[in-house]
Amino acid sequence: MRKNIVAGNWKMNCSLSEGKKLASEVINMVQDEIKSDTQVILIPPFIHLTSIQSLIGSSAQVSLGAQNCSQHAKGAYTGEVSAEMLISAGATSVILGHSERREYFNESDELLADKVKFALENSLTPIFCCGEKLEVREAGNHEQLVGAQINQALFGLSEDEIQKVVIAYEPVWAIGTGVTASADQAQEMHAFIRSQITSNYNQEIANSVSILYGGSVKPENAKEIFSQEDVDGGLIGGASLKSRDFTNIIKAFD
Ligand code: PEP
Repeated sequence: MRKNIVAGNWKMNCSLSEGKKLASEVINMVQDEIKSDTQVILIPPFIHLTSIQSLIGSSAQVSLGAQNCSQHAKGAYTGEVSAEMLISAGATSVILGHSERREYFNESDELLADKVKFALENSLTPIFCCGEKLEVREAGNHEQLVGAQINQALFGLSEDEIQKVVIAYEPVWAIGTGVTASADQAQEMHAFIRSQITSNYNQEIANSVSILYGGSVKPENAKEIFSQEDVDGGLIGGASLKSRDFTNIIKAFD
């Protein structure tokens, strides 16, 4: 059965000392206060990965993720980071297709299909982000758009592979804006995504894929969103930078 996951995407925030302090606080709070077996993923900038991994150690509940990775194995790609490097730094998952990567670095679903495949081949769990912009939702085309994103980037995967992917539905209009999708809007899209997995694979596989919601999740709204049938946790941006807020979000599953 699918896992509940709360992942904290630090984006381009935190000096090394700030990051170590934040991670230590979260790791201690998770150990002392969290009752559920929710999987917690810390996703710092690349340069902090090894330091944060030393703090995580062999925790059964907290793991390390990266914010992106190259579709190439190695070579003359200045500024890029490979899947092998991420694994060697201790990461077990990687965000792919975040809306900021799509918007500012022109990442397409075609490219993301390659990245997802490559991450899986290297035993990294892709946390694949999808989601529509405001104008698409206002035009009523959100399911069509998200359906196309997952179809192009994910549905070429084998049955074995798709079950190893985590999907994060992140409506672009809700990221960093303070505007959250309502619990009903989140549930509706998550159910749609799961129905697409069922159509392309089968029900059992669809039920094994964790689908996270992302977009201005806070301690105040986490419980309502996470209690929806098809919402298996969250990808958290801003609130993951405050240890107490992040831990209180994880507590929504307690
Ligand atoms: C994100 O960037 O993935 C995100 C969900 O950000 P925020 O929680 O700040 O909206």
